[in-house]
Amino acid sequence: MSYRVDTNCIQGGYQPKNGEPRILPIYQSTTYKYDSADHLGDLFDLKVDGHMYTRISNPTVAAVEEKISTLEGGVGAMCTSSGQAASLMAIFNITSAGQNFVSLSTIYGGTTNLFAVTMKRMGIEVRFVTPDMTDEEIDALFDENTRLVFGETVANPALTVLDIERYAAIAHRHGVPLIVDNTFATPILCRPFEFGADIVMHSTTKYMDGHASVVGGVIVDSGNFDWAASGKYPELTEPDESYHGVVYTEQFGKAAYITKARVQLMRDFGSTPQPLAMFLLNLGLETLAVRMERHCSNAVKVAKFLESHPQVAWVNYPMLENSDQHALAQKYLPNGCCGVISFGIRGGREAAVRFMDSLKLAAVVVHVADARTSVLHPASTTHRQLTDEQLIATGITPDMIRLSVGIENSEDIIEDLQQAFEQAKA
Ligand SMILES: *Cc1c(COP(=O)(O)O)cnc(C)c1O
Repeated sequence: MSYRVDTNCIQGGYQPKNGEPRILPIYQSTTYKYDSADHLGDLFDLKVDGHMYTRISNPTVAAVEEKISTLEGGVGAMCTSSGQAASLMAIFNITSAGQNFVSLSTIYGGTTNLFAVTMKRMGIEVRFVTPDMTDEEIDALFDENTRLVFGETVANPALTVLDIERYAAIAHRHGVPLIVDNTFATPILCRPFEFGADIVMHSTTKYMDGHASVVGGVIVDSGNFDWAASGKYPELTEPDESYHGVVYTEQFGKAAYITKARVQLMRDFGSTPQPLAMFLLNLGLETLAVRMERHCSNAVKVAKFLESHPQVAWVNYPMLENSDQHALAQKYLPNGCCGVISFGIRGGREAAVRFMDSLKLAAVVVHVADARTSVLHPASTTHRQLTDEQLIATGITPDMIRLSVGIENSEDIIEDLQQAFEQAKA
């Protein structure tokens, strides 16, 4: 029986058998018991399915992975201890020292650091592209060591919408996959596999959990990329020494990429999510579809309020008709584009600080994308490690306020903003 995405939020991943608990149990166990040493040996050799150690897999975690895989329309998923771990492993799974990859520059600041600084120390080079570059300019950045293309469906915090079909086409004509960070859109608003993306990752810390209680990440494999045909990925198509010569594409077929990520990278890096955290994530996922609907409808109302406010210099929200992202948003995000809006306040940095300090309902936090309305000044917080040049390449201006519209009553949110604008007047 196949259900629609909002039904799968609730019903996906865990189907109890006769007499079993109705709610996903928390298997708070690091260890699993076997009747024979042989069976355990087969598990180690990846000859049979099953759990052997919670660093690699666990039944609670597996149920959440199956749910998210179903929501995205993938062949398999792997949850990680954070979104950062998911970004690192999604890329490192198919990239080694001496190789490079192409990434949109309009991405999360933490990802920019990971790519430009930390991965550089691993011998992996990122080549940033901006959304205004032509195909020819992007093509020129590829060489025989380029392994993938990376971008965010809705960029945090630039709110640019990724032209998924375009970047998938560019990636595919160079024989490499497109990896998409779908954190802000969630599979409720966009399923990048439907537009040609090959791998999707998320920070589940944001809307998927939705309650700001658990840090986590996930990687989902579409199963669509043909690693063997590409010929560029010996780590998937040639024997893995650490498993007595397993060839992932031969033994695991469409799930080669995600299986390798688990049995090799998760085994070696150990960025494992905890079963209790995944239980909480699952509670968040159950209401994801209804929450996203409310985030989106509230955000449209707030964006229109901001647009008409005399103290607002500019508003960036892709659903606004005069947004330069509107056409892309209509194509990729027909039902809404998330609850995050950015805007510039007149009066510069001082006005921004007075405005933020005067908010009562909207809290100043580092987090975004949960049930509570919150607000942040990226230039002085999340993105403060970036140079001015990097800041602008990431799509951030010094006067930018990032507003994460929650699921409260929209009139209360707007009244709070209104009184803070009054206080912000010099
Ligand atoms: C927050 C975020 C990350 C990093 O995730 P963590 O769970 O904080 O490690 C990655 N990508 C995007 C788009 C994010 O918003």
